Amino acid sequence: MAWDFSTEPEFQAKLDWIRQFVRDEVEPLEVLFPGCEYLPLDDERRRIVDPLKDRVREQGLWAPHLGPELGGQGFGAVKLALINEILGRTSWAPIVFGTQAPDTGNAEILARFGTADQKDKYLAGLLSGEIFSCFSMTEPQGGADPRVFTTRAVKDGEEWVITGRKYFSSNASVASFFIVVAITDPDVPVHRGASTFLIPAGTPGLVIEATHHLVGSHPHEAGHSLVRYDDVRVPADAILGEPGQGFLILQNRLAGGRLHHAMRSIGVAQRAIDMMARRAKSRFTQGSSLADKQLVQQFIADSYAELIPFRLTVLHAAWLIDTAGEHAARAEIAVCKILASQVLKSIGLRAIQVHGAMGLTEQLPLAGVLLGGVALGLADGPTEAHKVNLARLLLKGYEAEDPEWPSEFLDNRIEAARAKYGDLVEHIPAVPRT
Ligand SMILES: Cc1cc2nc3c(=O)[nH]c(=O)nc-3n(C[C@H](O)[C@H](O)[C@H](O)COP(=O)(O)OP(=O)(O)OC[C@H]3O[C@@H](n4cnc5c(N)ncnc54)[C@H](O)[C@@H]3O)c2cc1C
Repeated sequence: MAWDFSTEPEFQAKLDWIRQFVRDEVEPLEVLFPGCEYLPLDDERRRIVDPLKDRVREQGLWAPHLGPELGGQGFGAVKLALINEILGRTSWAPIVFGTQAPDTGNAEILARFGTADQKDKYLAGLLSGEIFSCFSMTEPQGGADPRVFTTRAVKDGEEWVITGRKYFSSNASVASFFIVVAITDPDVPVHRGASTFLIPAGTPGLVIEATHHLVGSHPHEAGHSLVRYDDVRVPADAILGEPGQGFLILQNRLAGGRLHHAMRSIGVAQRAIDMMARRAKSRFTQGSSLADKQLVQQFIADSYAELIPFRLTVLHAAWLIDTAGEHAARAEIAVCKILASQVLKSIGLRAIQVHGAMGLTEQLPLAGVLLGGVALGLADGPTEAHKVNLARLLLKGYEAEDPEWPSEFLDNRIEAARAKYGDLVEHIPAVPRT
């Protein structure tokens, strides 16, 4: 019997440790250092955060998304999902466990496509959690369609010269290096004409023009920047992978990242349901608790009924990755990406409603759940684009048939049955015919 939802006891013990550690030690950082997750650690924060990271390392849980060759644990995707759904409960947990976006995805493509020199230069700091990175792809004229990208990289002797503007480059203001997608061959389709480059922060010509913050975010947050690449010169070996491999690399990066977001979203949604249920049992109005009102019960039941299939879909996608590889899980990863946004929006909205006016204030983390869902409907590509891609992928598995009479048309099915069972078909109760 190959289908199995059980967790081995040794790993369950680790999950139990993570759950308690995150609740008791990490969640308080939300109020201690709000919005400071991606700021380089100053002495005050380092005094608190470094010992927490050490405890994670002692437990053998640091960088759970990576293989052992990169200092991670080689847990695989299913175990990572079980860990990430706990870490998703609070914004500081991924930092304390060395598994925060966008650095995880950036580390993965560096590990997969980087040269030994590039790994020496960038990967070690990233994996130790000492530096942050930025993935700079979206352009002001549009992010959902790479065919509109105009940022160019042109070879000039032993250097590449990069020119263009990128929008919504997360963490650009704190990043030690940038991974930039630029067109190297405009004469071929973008999936063969784009390349990725590694650029250290502070390189002449790399200018952060502005940094925008999501509504409701804390002013300390690193934000999302409009970055100008003004004839930025980098050596020939600053290219990540081969010229023309940019699209392949970004697809590689985004697939894992999308699933990591979905894993963490389970924890975000579960926390909102926990809050909703506690509030429903505690708040009395018009003669009974909210938990006794059928409409509020429906909120809780609907939320759970959305969370459970979402969680199973994420775990199934993770299982497919572990057993058959990421390529085999493309459709499921797209579904996770679509559902993560949907589930957070609807559960977040209900949790706010159950908390009344307070739910909408900064006193509770619920508006963040709702807006997080909205953000996930855009980050790493809008939901609509993922639906289009998912539909195309699914349609590849089907053949066109007779445009007038589909194969499921009764006459066709009778013909098929006759071919198989001959005269028996004549005993079918008469079907009215004209
Ligand atoms: C929180 C957050 C963090 C981000 N971080 C980064 C980052 O670090 N680096 C980076 O490069 N980018 C980042 N982005 C940008 C993100 O990748 C883009 O927002 C996304 O790709 C959409 O691009 P756009 O915003 O330019 O919207 P547009 O491309 O203008 O699309 C706008 C809308 O058009 C509709 N649409 C688009 N395509 C289709 C379609 N095929 N069918 C139907 N409707 C469609 C959708 O409703 C879509 O939302 C981030 C975004 C968010 C919200």
